[in-house]
Amino acid sequence: MLTGPQISADTVTDSASPNLANNWTETRQRIATVASQWGRLCDSVGLVAISKGHPASAIRALAALGQRDFGENYLQEAGPKLQELQDLKLTWHFTGQLQGNKTRPVAEQFDWVHTLDRERIALRLNEQRPHYAPPLNICVQVSLVPEPGKGGVPPEGVLPLAQRVATLPKLKLRGLMCIPPPRDTFEEQRALFEQLVACQRQLLDAGLAVDTLSMGMSDDLEAAVAAGATWVRIGTAIFGKRQKQ
Ligand SMILES: *Cc1c(COP(=O)(O)O)cnc(C)c1O
Repeated sequence: MLTGPQISADTVTDSASPNLANNWTETRQRIATVASQWGRLCDSVGLVAISKGHPASAIRALAALGQRDFGENYLQEAGPKLQELQDLKLTWHFTGQLQGNKTRPVAEQFDWVHTLDRERIALRLNEQRPHYAPPLNICVQVSLVPEPGKGGVPPEGVLPLAQRVATLPKLKLRGLMCIPPPRDTFEEQRALFEQLVACQRQLLDAGLAVDTLSMGMSDDLEAAVAAGATWVRIGTAIFGKRQKQ
């Protein structure tokens, strides 16, 4: 017998539905399973819940379960949500395309940027990061397969940009990120993620202390974890389908 307050139909169809808890648990289970298959500690793989297209109420519900890291792609959408959720002390990851004229809110309100791909934007973020805030954690986005209109530097551009970021005091170079195009098999997915690992090795050889690989989404997180992901970025598998932007 349930003795708690009655749950109305509204509450159940809301984004704080029991599905959210199940999806979150299943996603964490997927990560734990593949991590142990590949001899990795579960704790070495962080989960960023990508909440674009979902309301602040869904983020609040997920935070209540224990999720701390959230990712947003669109500043217009993120602004009011971050404001509304200020009391929760969440860690915010910017995972959208950065525009040169709209860097200030990212520099002021986010903890991580996963999508840096231009020196000019690095300079602006460094300049605009508030003096009281710790350095902004940065991943350089790598375009492993050339795709017009998508962000990222080609592999040969990674080292010079990373070296530049490493000189900027209000930025902290953490590592690399990729969004590879969809592939059908685990092996094909994994081969692409291994290319990001190779880029990371190049930075390590050059003396840059990079500890982060942000790779893997709902459909390819297993291959990403097998290859060495330290952040996976999961939207759909946790929150369900989102409204198209
Ligand atoms: C939307 C998005 C995700 C989440 O993708 P899903 O397939 O919904 O898990 C991850 N990373 C980035 C950069 C995204 O834009």
